[in-house]
Amino acid sequence: MPRFVRYAATSGPEFGIVDDTGVRAIEGHPFGEWADTNRQVPLDRLRLLAPIIPTKVVAVGRNYAAHAQEMGGEVPAEPLLFFKPTTAIIGPGDPILYPTDLTSLVHHEAEIAVVVGAKLTRASVAEAAEGIAGYTAANDVTARDLQRAEPQWARGKGMDTFLPLGPSMTTELDLSDTRVVCRVNGQVRQEGTTADLVFDVPTLLSHISQSITLLPTDVVLTGTPAGVGPIEPGVTVEV
Ligand code: ZN
Repeated sequence: MPRFVRYAATSGPEFGIVDDTGVRAIEGHPFGEWADTNRQVPLDRLRLLAPIIPTKVVAVGRNYAAHAQEMGGEVPAEPLLFFKPTTAIIGPGDPILYPTDLTSLVHHEAEIAVVVGAKLTRASVAEAAEGIAGYTAANDVTARDLQRAEPQWARGKGMDTFLPLGPSMTTELDLSDTRVVCRVNGQVRQEGTTADLVFDVPTLLSHISQSITLLPTDVVLTGTPAGVGPIEPGVTVEV
């Protein structure tokens, strides 16, 4: 089960696979043909990037019952969808920008990000399950004050740098009970399990694809467990 990373090389971004000692470069693309070059990437020169650049990011709100409750809402009868722009994506370790002229309440939201590997249009749940390329970690950073104040979440959810992705993409993950954890300066703020997802991942992808075609590389954010809260300038957030 390979774990892929994307990193900055002198000639542009390259993909690699994670091994015991670091990262080995591959030739090709994780979604297509690829081959192990057995060339080790020097760790001191390894700058990780977001593992994938999607054509779009579809996100799901209130997909853990306990989080829906802390937001003062019910679990929706069907998945609540919104978009995050690809310009919000940053890589692991990159700084989240906090525009204090626009917001004074930025929240973390630890989430499992699903990477789509096939074109999905009106896919059945089974077809959607087959169309998953992999999984990575995401922080659905949210300007909560703007999200609350505005009926559309484009600004509150879509600001530059509000979608850290990575560090790696794994091709397989048992989502029956995967822990989703967020730490701020090392302290656990969110801890949930995918066992509590209201809508499971194949159901989400199938539902989205009834109205919106999902393309290879697209990312679906699966919702955040309870415990969301503010982050202050200067802190370190881990998902
Ligand atoms: Zn979210």
